[in-house]
Amino acid sequence: MTPNQPALTASTRWLNAWACAALAVCVLAAPSVLCASTAPAPSNDVVDEAVTQLDADRATALAQLRALWADPAQPLRGKAAVALSSALGKGEGRDTLPALVTEMLDSGVLTPTERALVFSNRLSALSEQRQWPEDDAALRAEAEAFSNAAPAGDGRAAPLDAIGAGLLSRGKFPEAEQWFRKALSVYEGSGPTRRRSDYLRNLGVALAQEGKLDQSLEAMLDSQSMREALGLPDSHLLLGNLAGLHLYMERWDRALALAERAIAASPPDSASRTKYINNAGSALFGLGRIDEARVRFEESLALAERLGAPSLSPLNNLAFALLKQGDTREAMRRFEQIEAIATQNHDLALLGVAKKNLGESWIALGDRRRADTFLQAARDIYKESDNRPKAVELYPVLIDNLEALGRHAEALQRMREFKALNDEMNSVASNERIAGLEANAELRHKESELAIQKAGLAAQQADIERLQAQEVSERLKRQLLIGAIVALALILMLLARHVRLRARAHNELLRKNGEIDAHLRDLERLNDVVRKQSEEDALTGLYNRRHLQALLSHRSAHPDMGYPLLAIVADLDHFKRINDAFGHPVGDKALQHVAGVLRRCQRDGDELIRWGGEEFIWLCRGASEAQAPALCARLQQALADHPLEIDGHTITLTVSLGFAPASLWPGREPDVDLAIRLADQAAYCAKAAGRNTWTGYSAGIEPPADVDLARCTAETMEQQGWVRRVAA
Ligand code: GH3
Ligand code: MG
Ligand code: MG
Repeated sequence: MTPNQPALTASTRWLNAWACAALAVCVLAAPSVLCASTAPAPSNDVVDEAVTQLDADRATALAQLRALWADPAQPLRGKAAVALSSALGKGEGRDTLPALVTEMLDSGVLTPTERALVFSNRLSALSEQRQWPEDDAALRAEAEAFSNAAPAGDGRAAPLDAIGAGLLSRGKFPEAEQWFRKALSVYEGSGPTRRRSDYLRNLGVALAQEGKLDQSLEAMLDSQSMREALGLPDSHLLLGNLAGLHLYMERWDRALALAERAIAASPPDSASRTKYINNAGSALFGLGRIDEARVRFEESLALAERLGAPSLSPLNNLAFALLKQGDTREAMRRFEQIEAIATQNHDLALLGVAKKNLGESWIALGDRRRADTFLQAARDIYKESDNRPKAVELYPVLIDNLEALGRHAEALQRMREFKALNDEMNSVASNERIAGLEANAELRHKESELAIQKAGLAAQQADIERLQAQEVSERLKRQLLIGAIVALALILMLLARHVRLRARAHNELLRKNGEIDAHLRDLERLNDVVRKQSEEDALTGLYNRRHLQALLSHRSAHPDMGYPLLAIVADLDHFKRINDAFGHPVGDKALQHVAGVLRRCQRDGDELIRWGGEEFIWLCRGASEAQAPALCARLQQALADHPLEIDGHTITLTVSLGFAPASLWPGREPDVDLAIRLADQAAYCAKAAGRNTWTGYSAGIEPPADVDLARCTAETMEQQGWVRRVAA
């Protein structure tokens, strides 16, 4: 802030003054919370459990802590003493604290650290009650003694911090700063702890009151990052203090946001909350949102009254709003109340604010002389307590008023003081430092958000990769399945085609086979025809000599088939004469006629063969020689009965017949060849006997086995008596 800065309007100055008061109140609430636990990290024991119940059910929690402290067998008795003394220092039952602390310190069961912490809690209660004595030399000495008795750590630091808090409550900011620094020096070289972070915050408050805004911001941000490093949740105290600091810096938006966060993080019905609501109102006022600000101030005031602890800060702010809205008398009435209470409480900061507000009220009422009295008083108070931020806000009003009163020399003097103070507080370097600190804090915040986002992204990426791998594997499976289905379909198609082709080939084969069979049958038929034709006599249609030869060879191959058998040879009588008489064609007709007569005479199974020109053989199947005469007679009779009628001629034909049976002797095989030879000889005999008759041979004595009958003539056989000739 510079003297020329337009922000130095009456309203801004007033508000800043009030913001300071609010901040101071917030700080004083801090120490009571610090002593809840001796351990930096909660260990979830019975004491911690009771402590966490304090906000929800204070009476029960206090009873539990008292019981734990009273139980000689309780191993956590010392811890319970620390927690109980801290809890009592914060509210109801506070009056019992001094006696209880004395009892605890005298009990002999506390460790040096616990003793130091219990003692510190008693000091904190004094600060909170604004009962810090003007002469605190004895307290300081005691605190030093407890601190020195404790080992390095919280026990050594706590009494020193408690003295700092006491000095803060008396508005002795530079001294408070020194004690806070002493407390913090205990931790040099060691890591972050909850208490260390709280003491840093307290230091920040003292620095803020001294107008060392950049150092204050640094301390508070250090405190915040220490909390983050410890994984602790938002501290409403720290947020509230940061909100107050930002009000000092006239960073209204940021102050409002921090105040809202502090409200959200604070217990619903707590004195702290009244202060944060008040701070939110101050920020809104700074933003020009007066009506909203008034709502907040009234809300803060109502809550404070409900809690039985009326707060001067919202009261002052409401009065200021009245002043702004033109109700100067009512505003002044309230400022005077506040002035009286602040004097009674030795609250120099608030007293300064009240004096300044009264001064401004008198200006508004046009009494600049009275105004100067109050403004000068405020200046003295701020100077005494080295409250530079408030002094910086006061000076422009003071100087303006002196100018208006025509006290130019005084005005110039104050202007010089103001410039020196303002330059000191708002050096370019410190402004840059503040900007840097805020940027760093912002960066840290962004980095932690980024880390969270990165972790989220990494998890998402892992998820995506897992899903992608799954999809690839499923796609592969699908492709394999499709491949398998396609392959199967192909195989089935090929199989179907193969079956179809096979069926077609099979059908083709069947057709071809059928055709071949048909061809074969045709061939066989043709063969039969050819064979038949080759064994058939063309003129008569009877079998020819070739057939007889085939028959004989077949019979010799199958000698048991077709016996008994009688061979009859028929030779036409004087046939030559027919040819001669009627011509050769008529001779042919005669031969055909005889063939017809023979057919008429033959029986089933008989065979007729044209053996030579006009000679025929009649093989009678199943006939013996006994039947031969009748058969011969049947033929002779038939020829006689059927003469050849041709060209007007009737030609009666006769035959000479000879016969012989195929089976002549029991000891020899049937012999058709021999029978035909004998029958032929017999037919010759019939010729000789006068023609148109028959002769035959029957069996005689059986020829010796070694005789080859093929070489014997019929005559020889007859002579030997092997055959006998029979005649008609
Ligand atoms: P025989 O009573 O002694 O048997 O007197 P034949 O005339 O019947 O006997 P021969 O052996 O002297 O004469 C047979 C005749 O039959 C001779 C021949 O011309 C005639 N001949 C043979 N084959 C055929 C033929 O196919 N057609 C005609 N028309 N005559 C034939
Ligand atoms: Mg003849
Ligand atoms: Mg003849």
